[in-house]
Amino acid sequence: MELFPEPFRIKTVEPIKMISREEREAELKKAGYNLFLIDAEKIFVDLLTDSGTSAMSDKQWASIMVGDESYAGCRNFKNLEKTIRDIFGFKHLIPTHQGRAAENILFSLMVKPGDYVPNNTHFDTTRANVEANGGVAMDLVVDEAKDLTSQFPFKGNMDIKKLENFIREVGPDKIPLGMITITNNSIGGQPVSLDNIRQTAAVYRKYGILFFIDACRYAENSYFIKTREPGYENAKPIDIAREIFSMADGCTMSAKKDALVNIGGFLALNSDQLFEQFKQKLILVEGFPTYGGLAGRDLEAISTGLYEGLDEDYLKYRIAHTRYLADRLEEEGVPYVKPSGGHGIYVDAKAFLPHIPQEQFPGQALVAALYLEGGIRSVEIGSVMFAKYEANGKIIPPALELVRLAIPRRVYTLSHLDYVASVFGKVRQNMEQIKGLKFTYAPKALRHFTARFKPVEE
Ligand SMILES: *Cc1c(COP(=O)(O)O)cnc(C)c1O
Repeated sequence: MELFPEPFRIKTVEPIKMISREEREAELKKAGYNLFLIDAEKIFVDLLTDSGTSAMSDKQWASIMVGDESYAGCRNFKNLEKTIRDIFGFKHLIPTHQGRAAENILFSLMVKPGDYVPNNTHFDTTRANVEANGGVAMDLVVDEAKDLTSQFPFKGNMDIKKLENFIREVGPDKIPLGMITITNNSIGGQPVSLDNIRQTAAVYRKYGILFFIDACRYAENSYFIKTREPGYENAKPIDIAREIFSMADGCTMSAKKDALVNIGGFLALNSDQLFEQFKQKLILVEGFPTYGGLAGRDLEAISTGLYEGLDEDYLKYRIAHTRYLADRLEEEGVPYVKPSGGHGIYVDAKAFLPHIPQEQFPGQALVAALYLEGGIRSVEIGSVMFAKYEANGKIIPPALELVRLAIPRRVYTLSHLDYVASVFGKVRQNMEQIKGLKFTYAPKALRHFTARFKPVEE
């Protein structure tokens, strides 16, 4: 892939510091080999997440200065409403402090016990919000998603046959709304094709089911459509986005992703009747309808960021930048999920560290090794996060042991990515010395955030 240099120059810098190997070793021990428990100041390159970690532009910082902090009717709400109508085409805007608050409002009013919500793949917070209201979150992604080496261009797609069979099986009256997530975060930031969104919308419409899009990375998805789907080569990302949302009844959005801000989100929709209900709930849990969960200045930075996130040069750079890390890892012989996604690279830890059995958490061992070798923070998506256990305590590991390298937007340069690849090279050279890990503390739910480990001794 041709390299496209950063279409911006740097005007403000934030120093980062590499502490010594001895200090990193001490930090790892202190944190029980869990990178969530290490202070950000002790990290050199932080690839924990792309959420809320974007660098804002000069224009966005200028937007912060024109925040109107009136309790009611601030001009920034009007402007964001206009932006949402322009890009997404939805009539009503519910501003929230982040994506999961939008999900909470949506599902708490629409889902009741015994209901089902289909999706290509639910993101963790989406699933949790469906389940918290007694619903069942059903994933119906295409089979290509499960093959790590398949180069299928739209691995994020919904399996249309499975979707229709599922609706017939449980009955449309048990499905208050249907969703699709673009890009499909949980399976590696893989895109969904416009044709697939169209077919998904048609199935929902056929059965009278409302269609909401989880839109967090809609701009990256629009660019993948432009470059991978025949017929869209000459379309502008913003026009692709307009076409996508014209097929839906509403969307949930975490502005911490493709709106290039550090906090924020929204729910947008067409129905007047639902809007009235959502608005009452918004007042109860977030704030008055014209600011919701945010300050006026945040609303303005989102408006500006939404357009910047759709800029064609920015998207060309963004996707090429992620792909650059994938290509460098390839050169270092690192196995990863193909093709590379929009917001990160997912390394196959089971294949990279074949000497560590799944019950000794090869993903977590690799996460720890990357920190020890180079001060890099990544996150395990494998047995620590998802393993289940038999009654006798025997582990039932998930199919994949992945390590995610999420790439913050407009934050790191190509030399940071070169550095990350070189650290992988060093880890690989000393691979046999990397030991598996075992728990010294593991909470019952969401254990990856607070669990502690120690190395398995021979
Ligand atoms: C991040 C994310 C969310 C939740 O948004 P938050 O702002 O973290 O609450 C929902 N869906 C997807 C696909 C996401 O990536």
